[in-house]
Amino acid sequence: MFEVVIGLEVHVQLNTKTKLFCSCATSFNHKQNTNTCPTCLALPGALPVLNKEVLQKAVMLGTALGATVNRTSYFDRKSYFYPDSPTAYQITQFYTPVIQNGTLEIDFDDGRKKTIRVGFAHIEADAGKNIHEGDRSKVDLNRAGTPLLEIVTQPDMRSAEEAILYLKKLHSIIRYLDIGDANMQEGSFRVDVNVSIRPKGDEKLYTRVEVKNINSFKFIEKAIEVEVRRQSEAWEDGKYDEEICQETRLFDQVKIETRSMRGKEEAADYRYFPEPDLLKAVVTDEMFEKYSKIPELPDAKRDRFVKEFGLNAYNAGVITSSVEMAHFFEEMMSEGISAKNATTWLTVELAARMKGEVNITNTPVNAKKLGTLVKRIEDQSVSGKAAKEVLDYLMENDSEVDAAIDTLGLKQVTDMGAIESICDEIIAANPEKVEQLKGGKDKLFGFFVGQVMKASKGSANPQAVNEILKAKLG
Ligand code: ADP
Ligand code: MG
Ligand code: ZN
Repeated sequence: MFEVVIGLEVHVQLNTKTKLFCSCATSFNHKQNTNTCPTCLALPGALPVLNKEVLQKAVMLGTALGATVNRTSYFDRKSYFYPDSPTAYQITQFYTPVIQNGTLEIDFDDGRKKTIRVGFAHIEADAGKNIHEGDRSKVDLNRAGTPLLEIVTQPDMRSAEEAILYLKKLHSIIRYLDIGDANMQEGSFRVDVNVSIRPKGDEKLYTRVEVKNINSFKFIEKAIEVEVRRQSEAWEDGKYDEEICQETRLFDQVKIETRSMRGKEEAADYRYFPEPDLLKAVVTDEMFEKYSKIPELPDAKRDRFVKEFGLNAYNAGVITSSVEMAHFFEEMMSEGISAKNATTWLTVELAARMKGEVNITNTPVNAKKLGTLVKRIEDQSVSGKAAKEVLDYLMENDSEVDAAIDTLGLKQVTDMGAIESICDEIIAANPEKVEQLKGGKDKLFGFFVGQVMKASKGSANPQAVNEILKAKLG
């Protein structure tokens, strides 16, 4: 039997206003080659200057990972030529990265936990983009020089499940810290997966394959599965040494397979050497003081939701996995409603109406409105059933909750006098049924409740109807 060994490298694009070594904007979707200057175009004589905001964000991430933040770190040149990299080298941190020896805890569905070691994270500059159109290729350098943090784990994961749990937790932490938008489709959270296998019980690391170009959690899981299958089949066929070599492979999202892209370079191939154009990067005491005060992270928030609001661990985990959802929930709770109702209306009712695309920041029904709606259920202004109709209406119409309830005529009648007179009418109109009920046909009680509800067009408070009918019919 084989054991799977996985190590992950994640490139996170930082959401700084300007690039890593120049004052060009980092914004997306600008006209090609407009966010450029002599520095990021690598024109002769232009010199890089470190953007301090990048170091600040590194302090935040380092703190979140419980890592050592090196107060002094250095930049190095990694030499390689690509058309989208006009310097013909990348400025990165090879010998002394800014973050070292962190950890990240993952949680399995059954409550088990595991600690993944994050060996280091370093700052580096992104390349531009090659755009291929027919038989022509163009280069857009707007992205060249955008700051990245590359976060590298030890080979600690033993299954695709563990890899995904790690990535989702890291993704969530980046969003909580708000140091990057971590959008996988847009390439601001890029994952390289290193995979090898070994006979169970063996301590040694075998040849690893690096798989690139995977832009969703689902495909990462698939890529690991197919790569593990390829390697174990080669082993079982006695062709492991022949077929498995250290290389970079591309994941094909259509064929669901990995394909060789290039042989894996060794560090020596890159001719790393200290970057002569930059000073050392220093995290000052003031900077460390200020930026190591990070916001509450997903695990802490989850545990607090359990303790403070009495949520179960599962729901608390679902809600806190996304920072937007967690803040949405907290804002709902500030309406003074029960946590159980808030959870249901957020994770079941609202989520269902967003058709899987739960984008809490863009929902037409904001947290205050949803909280108010739950409050109206709790103070019995609407029934739970009617509230669903109100929510449907709010998804489509820009209206306040109370106005929507009025417009839809769904205000629940709790006026006891009004309900009592409806009950009297129904009782008067059905003398035979009253006799039968009193004669022991208990099932008829439901008939009366139904008739009263119908007569009130569903607006009577069912609890009040029940009480009044019971008093009148015995
Ligand atoms: P490089 O920078 O050339 O990609 P590293 O040695 O920094 O190489 O390793 C990159 C990643 O590969 C790390 O996440 C590491 O944990 C992982 N890794 C190293 N050896 C193995 C292995 N045998 N199996 C799986 N992953 C591995
Ligand atoms: Mg690598
Ligand atoms: Zn520039």
